[in-house]
Amino acid sequence: MADYDLAIIGGGLNGVSLARDAAGRGLRVILVEQGDLGGAASSATPRLIHGDLSVLERRGFWRVRRALAERATWLRIAPHLVRPMRFVIPAHSDERPPWLLRTGLYVYDALANRGGLPRSATLDITHHPVGNALKRPFGIGFEYGDCVVDDSRLVVLTALDAAERGAAIHTGARCVRADRTDTWRLAVVDRGHRRTITARALANATGGWTSMVAETVLRQPQAAMAAMQMSQIVVPKLFESDNVYVFQNNDGRLIFASPFERDFTLIGTVTHDFTGDPAIVAMPGADVSYLCEAVSRYVRERVAPTDVVRTLSGVNLSPVSARRRDGTTLFHARRRKAPLLTMVGGDVTTSRLRAERAVTLMTPFYPMSRPWTAATPLPGGDFAWDRFETEIDLARDRWRFLDEPQARRLVAAYGSRLSAVLGEAKTRDELGPAFGPDLTGAEVRYLMTREWARFPDDILWRRSKLGLTMPAADREALAAFMADAG
Ligand SMILES: Cc1cc2nc3c(=O)[nH]c(=O)nc-3n(C[C@H](O)[C@H](O)[C@H](O)COP(=O)(O)OP(=O)(O)OC[C@H]3O[C@@H](n4cnc5c(N)ncnc54)[C@H](O)[C@@H]3O)c2cc1C
Repeated sequence: MADYDLAIIGGGLNGVSLARDAAGRGLRVILVEQGDLGGAASSATPRLIHGDLSVLERRGFWRVRRALAERATWLRIAPHLVRPMRFVIPAHSDERPPWLLRTGLYVYDALANRGGLPRSATLDITHHPVGNALKRPFGIGFEYGDCVVDDSRLVVLTALDAAERGAAIHTGARCVRADRTDTWRLAVVDRGHRRTITARALANATGGWTSMVAETVLRQPQAAMAAMQMSQIVVPKLFESDNVYVFQNNDGRLIFASPFERDFTLIGTVTHDFTGDPAIVAMPGADVSYLCEAVSRYVRERVAPTDVVRTLSGVNLSPVSARRRDGTTLFHARRRKAPLLTMVGGDVTTSRLRAERAVTLMTPFYPMSRPWTAATPLPGGDFAWDRFETEIDLARDRWRFLDEPQARRLVAAYGSRLSAVLGEAKTRDELGPAFGPDLTGAEVRYLMTREWARFPDDILWRRSKLGLTMPAADREALAAFMADAG
């Protein structure tokens, strides 16, 4: 008998979503990730949970409706990671006319299960605080509700839920070979040790590596795939208001500028074809300039490439025959050939649904229970989204040494599981050494024992974004602390 029902290669959003769904439906699951969870494209997404207005423009009504239904699901199951925001589109006389934007938003509202989010509205930007950071003359703009998400933590908490439902999650574990008969036999180099795993089915969820893995590891035929790179930039905060701005660029693209952590703005996205190794993906200077120019058309202070404090880039694939933005799932099974599932691309908003549908494809092969992930919160997400501020107040009542921004960051990261991080501490000193103003030894230990963090970057760039502000000396102290604790 095979060790597992399903082996998954790749610990990006697609891989962990498959693991969560399948483990909760009673399958014995193992996931192997060569680096860190969410270490590739899944931590470089636009961070939007939305129906996508640009899809509406191409008349993709059903797609928008489906994505908006998923938006409501995310608010229900991940109220700590997903934040409802007001998105603002300044009307620009050279771009889409105001009547078109107004009509589009009317349809967007009509397609949405708004789940408590307010309707869209017209704004007089000249007299509204959202206009303060913008150039004149943007007389009017439109405001609508959508959400942003912490993409990296979504990956980790999805993996955590999978693990709590029995999935084995191995990071630092690279699949180097997989032989297919009526079962799969995988050779995995797991933190330096070679081990063999057998599984009844295999999922290739390796994002930008999918074709390479199909060819060299699985040695299975695979549809021709095209690689695309998506990039974004992070700059010091451009706006005081807590809005996402949607700027129409002069090539028709929509550029999003979102609050990023406390003191920064995330600007994206730019995409183009990619060739090369997905492990080495750098944002070209021309792409950085493109985003700076696009935003500078709107904001008062010019944004220059020298303002960029970090770039975020990822690579994913889609079949050459059908370049799909909503991802592709391929399923192959024959007599005496164990099933092979390949899942590439797609956006964050519909990732849960894609995984649910992909696992359902395997029902003829395994007895399994019904889909469940839409109704069950992710770890720490068992409260209503509109109680987020209350959760912060409760945290500050319980751990009186937390200031408001610290409590906000911690509740957004851990939700109702915060007590597992802070325990019964009465003072900050009880949480061990401090690394910068925010990170404590207790949090580092929690992340190492419960969330697979092994190296400082796993904490500074994926379990949090504290790498944006942490001084070099504190990073070194963190590295030493983790080496001792590991
Ligand atoms: C061009 C482009 C457009 C995008 N558009 C959107 C968008 O509009 N909206 C949106 O929300 N998101 C968008 N995204 C981001 C998208 O959501 C992510 O690509 C998504 O998170 C899917 O990630 P993944 O799991 O397929 O891949 P990844 O996150 O890249 O994960 C793949 C993982 O496989 C691992 N791996 C590879 N080979 C092996 C091996 N041999 N053994 C073990 N592990 C291995 C890698 O280390 C990696 O961690 C876009 C991305 C790109 C590149």
